[in-house]
Formats: sequence, structure tokens, C-alpha cells
Amino acid sequence: MYLPFEEKYFPNIKVGNTPLIKPEYFNSIGFKNIFIKDDSLNPTGSLKDRASYLVAACARKFNIKEIVVSSTGNAGSSMAGIGAASGIKVKLFVPEKIPKGKLVQALQYGADVVMVKGNYDKAYDFSLEYSERKKLLSRNTAYNPLTIEGKKTAAIEIFEELGREPDYVFLPAGDGVILGGVYKGFAELYIMGRLKRMPKIFAVQSDKSPAIANALNEGDFKKINANSIADSINVDVPKNGYYAISMLRKYEGECVIVKDEDILDAQILLSSKTGIFAEPAAAASLSGFMKVKEKIDKDKIIVLLITGTGLKDIENASKKIKFPEPIKSMDQIK
Ligand SMILES: *Cc1c(COP(=O)(O)O)cnc(C)c1O
Repeated sequence: MYLPFEEKYFPNIKVGNTPLIKPEYFNSIGFKNIFIKDDSLNPTGSLKDRASYLVAACARKFNIKEIVVSSTGNAGSSMAGIGAASGIKVKLFVPEKIPKGKLVQALQYGADVVMVKGNYDKAYDFSLEYSERKKLLSRNTAYNPLTIEGKKTAAIEIFEELGREPDYVFLPAGDGVILGGVYKGFAELYIMGRLKRMPKIFAVQSDKSPAIANALNEGDFKKINANSIADSINVDVPKNGYYAISMLRKYEGECVIVKDEDILDAQILLSSKTGIFAEPAAAASLSGFMKVKEKIDKDKIIVLLITGTGLKDIENASKKIKFPEPIKSMDQIK
């Protein structure tokens, strides 16, 4: 009903309808209505599947056999997996610094991977040149508006699962497509008269990749050299920046800037208190909440959007944990 393609074009793989859960931990810090929307449970482990699924349906409807995409990891491994389920070839452009788990995943799914010397923005430009030259469908985030359309389903599900609108939503922002998509989902429900008011969205960014937060403050985008360990939100030029900013302004959203260190602490807090092991970019939602929680009314209905699983990036997840030493005898155990 909310999407532009008929059901028969969607591949047989289970995307979306992820659980909205209410971890007990948040009661212990005084918040009674904090929910987690766990999008790490999508088939390839991230919210990106919502966009890939819709782009795959588009390709099938118009009999397109190959999709091109650039990605820091999740969009690529997602398109590769959904492509595999759909019988569609995927050409994927990635930066050298892609976390290995995401690369291995894309290769397992059979994507044709081009590794680009340079960052994500360069991989993005190469992939666009390739799709234009070969006249192929691009799934590049924001460039293909279906990516925004697909991601809006997260907002619609949150509304349906809660039976009302949340007061606040915390989500990570890199290119601003999740941010724009979630806003679009709520805005459509609002226009249909199904929400009393628009939720307030807190877009969380790393202080090492704050392009959207800067632009919200300063009025326009300036080139930065993003350098966050949270690869999925590490972006110099947000591809959906202007739309994201206009929605933040229109609906009085806010940006929250957190440190990479705090993201890694939030990752462990999330794992150890809720049983959800998220990648750093996804844990940024919790990190942003922890940063502003003093200012927030404890009865508010709050949703933390967890966008991807931690298993894809073991290297960063290893930074703050202590590995056990092997033992030789039981006497060494206290
Ligand atoms: C892509 C991604 C984000 C950021 O989404 P944008 O649309 O680029 O802002 C956050 N978390 C995860 C896990 C992602 O894969």
C-alpha cells in the first residue's frame, strides 16, 4: 500500500517486519518506554535490505538483469544478498577500507566487486560513471529515490507495532537516507491523519563525521574529511544531505554529535544489557540517547533504531573487550 511495486515482483526473502522490543535494562535507568527497533535482524544484517528489496522489485518489474551500487559495506552486501535471492547480477564498488566481514559477505553472495583506491565518495563516483556508461540501474543511496522509499517502511512498522507514534526516535545518520526515509514514512502517515503529531527525530553523528550536524548549524554543507570508526556513517558529502536538513528543519529534529569512543562504549552497553550486538554505526543511536537523556522526560515513548549487526565488523568490536588467555590447568581458574 505504501510502496510503488506490486507484491509479485518482490523476491522470496524476508525483509523488514523486524521486532520492536522493550529491553528491561532501560527501566533500571528510569525510562519506562524505551523500545529498540532491531533492524540488524534483516536477512543480510542491516536496514539496507529495505532499500535493496525495493530496488530488486523495480529491476524485476522492468526486466533489468544487473544492478550497480557503491557502498562502505552494508548497502553492497545487502544488494548482493537480495540480488542473489532475485537472480539479479550485482556490480559493487567499495573503498579499500571496507570492513572485511562486509566484503566477505558480498563475495559469498556472488557480487562482482571492484575495490577502489580511496574513500567511499570516490567509489560512489566510479560506480555512477559505470552505471551511466553501461546504462544499468544504480542502487546508489539517495541517487536512486527508491532507497528513501524503501527505508521509510521502518517508520511505518514502528507506528504499526506501537499502535501510535513514538515521541522520539534516535537513529544514526551518514548519507541521511535512513533519516530522510524515516521522516518520509512518518510524514506520509501524518498527512493521512494517522498520527497526532510528528515524532521528534534525533540524528546521531560521530564528531569525526558531522557533515549533517554542521550543515544544520551553519546553513550549508562544507567539505570535511570524515574519519570515524563507524564506517556506515562515515561520509564526507552526505548524498541525501539537503533533503535530510529540510526535514530536520521542518519537523524540528535535532542532531546529536557523539565521540567514536562513546559509540564503542554504547556498543558494549547495548550488547551486555539488551543482548543486541550492533555495529558501531548502529550503536550510535544508543550513544546519542545516553548523551541527551538528562534533558528527556522519562515517560516519553522513545525508539532507538538499531540499523546493523555487530558481527560484520569484528575489528572495531574487539577494541574495548579483553580477550581471555588460554589456560593449561583448572588451578588457574579462581
Ligand atoms: C547505512 C547505514 C547507516 C546510515 O544510513 P544513511 O542513510 O547513510 O544515513 C547507519 N547504520 C548502518 C548500520 C548503516 O548500514
